[in-house]
Amino acid sequence: IDHVFLMKRDPIIAIDGPAGSGKSTVTKLIAKKLNFIFLDTGAMYRALSWYLLKEKINYENHEELNSFLSDISITFQSFTGSNQNVIINDHNVTEKIRTQKISSIVSSIASIREIREFLVKEQRKIGEAGGIVAEGRDIGSKVFPNAELKIFLTATIDERAKRRKNELEAMGQGTIDFKKLKKNIEQRDFDDYNRKISPLVKAEDAIEIISDGYQINEVVEKILEIYYETIPKELQL
Ligand code: C5P
Repeated sequence: IDHVFLMKRDPIIAIDGPAGSGKSTVTKLIAKKLNFIFLDTGAMYRALSWYLLKEKINYENHEELNSFLSDISITFQSFTGSNQNVIINDHNVTEKIRTQKISSIVSSIASIREIREFLVKEQRKIGEAGGIVAEGRDIGSKVFPNAELKIFLTATIDERAKRRKNELEAMGQGTIDFKKLKKNIEQRDFDDYNRKISPLVKAEDAIEIISDGYQINEVVEKILEIYYETIPKELQL
């Protein structure tokens, strides 16, 4: 062979796991540390859910849904900094997509084939060049199956509900009912693990981290350690 042309892209880190496992925080910190962009794919499912509700789209009607999707643009303002604005067709929905109402419907909307196909395509465009940490449910299994590093981040349900409660209260959503929140998360887990298309699953080559009892920065350190150990030096940024 005289010439081998390899299209190199920068590394991709996939972080999957159930709701409240700390994915978002961990993803942002890793992106900052490595100077990668970060992608919160859950925010895209949430933004679409918000817009479908607002426009009163009958998403069970395929034609209506497809014509709706053909007009959608979802963008993130500032990919790097630690806070990202989520914009869907000129609506800034950054905060609106974090309500319990959206949390309780997003999984059923995320189980629709057209919705997933549309968003996976968008996500692949964003990650094309690599240099990205993406978090969600199907990143390692479906969106970026060739990711150089795949993490499956989880924690017990009580731990996750506790963290989510603190998060939401810190956002200024008032006092959150723990039992209701826990139930909502359990329902979402169930729907995400059991849907037909791209269910939440630990990719075969993913490394599982159970984060109960660990501080966020310990989890971040662990993942970075694995990153430096497993990614070939010439690929590291
Ligand atoms: O990550 P977050 O909790 O914001 O995700 C909200 C919902 O979006 C999940 O419960 C899941 O139903 C859906 N989702 C998905 N695939 C992804 C990311 C999120 O189905 N990659």
